[in-house]
Amino acid sequence: MQKPNLSIDHSWTLFLDRDGVINVHSEGYVNNIKNFIFIDGVLEALKKLSNIFGKIIVVTNQQGIGKKMMTVEELHIVHEYMLKTIKQNGGRIDKIYFAPHLESENSQYRKPNTGMALHAKQDFPEIDFKKSIVVGDSLSDMQLGKKIGAYTVYVGKPLTTYDPLLIDYIFSSLYKLSEMLNNNSLI
Ligand SMILES: [Mg+2]
Repeated sequence: MQKPNLSIDHSWTLFLDRDGVINVHSEGYVNNIKNFIFIDGVLEALKKLSNIFGKIIVVTNQQGIGKKMMTVEELHIVHEYMLKTIKQNGGRIDKIYFAPHLESENSQYRKPNTGMALHAKQDFPEIDFKKSIVVGDSLSDMQLGKKIGAYTVYVGKPLTTYDPLLIDYIFSSLYKLSEMLNNNSLI
């Protein structure tokens, strides 16, 4: 597949999925900070990425709230911990959007739908989806990315086959992506 040569600067936005990209994807819901385990290298990656991208936005499906497995307050505590730790390590997240809806509700807000990205664009009109990269470990992240016209980076379990129209790049982790971008070699 022919890759575009992306020259990424501060006018670009990085959209990150949370579970499986920033923290270890666990079986249960992450309803307290003990269950929130940063993936190895992710804090260093976020430091590098913070120097490259103008905006870093987290978009995360959290249907555990809809299922009453956790409360919005518990989610906020986890996110405060995540933001604080990222900041202490030299990185930043500009804003977190979460979709509390059940999958069965088919909400426009919940990935693979685009509600959270559109909300971010409302809050930060300078976001240009054509100069955006969506990183995730699920197909629904890739679908959101393509619906808004962004580039997509898959960092999930190894795939035997995939749709090149849905996935632009594959990396083993956010850290690997940050290394490549730091060397300006995402071509
Ligand atoms: Mg995920």
